[in-house]
Amino acid sequence: VASRPERVEKKTTDPQDCLAVTVQPGVAQSARLDRIAVDAPGPGEVLMQVVRVGVCGTDAEICAGTYGAAPAGSERLVLGHESLLRVVRPATDVHGWSPGDLAVGIVRRPCPDPCPACQAGRWDLCMTGRFAERGISRLDGFLRELLTEQAAFLVPVPPALEPVAVLVEPLSVVEKALEEALRTQGHPEWSPRAALVTGAGPIGLLAALALRQRGYSVWVVDRQPPDAPKARLVQAAGMRYVDDRSEPLEQTVPPGGFGLAVEATGYSPLFFRAAGVLGRNGVLVLTGVTSGHHPVTVDADALNAETVLENHVLVGSVNAARRHYQAAVADLMDWHDRFPGLAERLITAHHPLRGFQDALAKGPADIKSVIEVAGGGA
Ligand SMILES: [Zn+2]
Ligand SMILES: [Zn+2]
Repeated sequence: VASRPERVEKKTTDPQDCLAVTVQPGVAQSARLDRIAVDAPGPGEVLMQVVRVGVCGTDAEICAGTYGAAPAGSERLVLGHESLLRVVRPATDVHGWSPGDLAVGIVRRPCPDPCPACQAGRWDLCMTGRFAERGISRLDGFLRELLTEQAAFLVPVPPALEPVAVLVEPLSVVEKALEEALRTQGHPEWSPRAALVTGAGPIGLLAALALRQRGYSVWVVDRQPPDAPKARLVQAAGMRYVDDRSEPLEQTVPPGGFGLAVEATGYSPLFFRAAGVLGRNGVLVLTGVTSGHHPVTVDADALNAETVLENHVLVGSVNAARRHYQAAVADLMDWHDRFPGLAERLITAHHPLRGFQDALAKGPADIKSVIEVAGGGA
């Protein structure tokens, strides 16, 4: 134990470079392991060790060359936006952080414009779209061994959450989406009981657990057999799993329809189907996008009439502000007791840094794959 801080100290008094996964945005299959420079922490900054990084569809799209942007003046972008970090050394002017503390890094950063949303810390509601996002757009990401980060963009994580804190970032997106749904249809008289989640990927499962935690009866729809890991996880939390292939969603709607629905697949035809099973005063929040083109035939008059006559709210939601990260940390702590071991079961594969390509190639049974950056046997 005594030798460990020494070793870290040796490594970080003179940080020069470290391993990182980089891509050339716009170019398919360009991801590779590189050595990149590590800056010593300046005022307000903290040198962080990256513990692990989760991967999702956004990373896959960036690696396929269909999404993402490199920082200004650079051809390549360091990948990774779902982080768990550990403090190595804060700058002398940084207070409240000590070596060994755990944190999650905030992904989106304010735009440089006089933007009221960004200036108020609501970069998730940025008015100009000129924000940057770590590992996605114009700002290097977390999939690297060491990172110099501004303390202002770190969210503290209690040690008990170490195994699951890599889920804080995707859960922050869910927290913002649920807040939007409840805010837009938040009449004091409105008390929905049944909630629907379409898609049992990480976002869908996190949304389902968050809704279950809040007392809803939750239906989760996907297209996997009932013995698939994601389906078992749904059932273990006391929620209803529906395999849409054998039991179409429309045939399992509770009396009065769903009060709240979260669409988490990005498969656009499901948007219309979820809207169709909303109850009176129901709210549907959309969290996913896919880059495909799926034409569907819609009875536009019926959709219009139903939306008006039943006070439906259809809302889109993306990204998260600091308070949504904090809410995610609080919820994961709550789940620790309420759903023991379930958040852990969302992480179905651990890969070493050098095996990042395997982490990006998701199998049908995988829910969330993570890359063990620190001590992962790279
Ligand atoms: Zn993600
Ligand atoms: Zn802005």
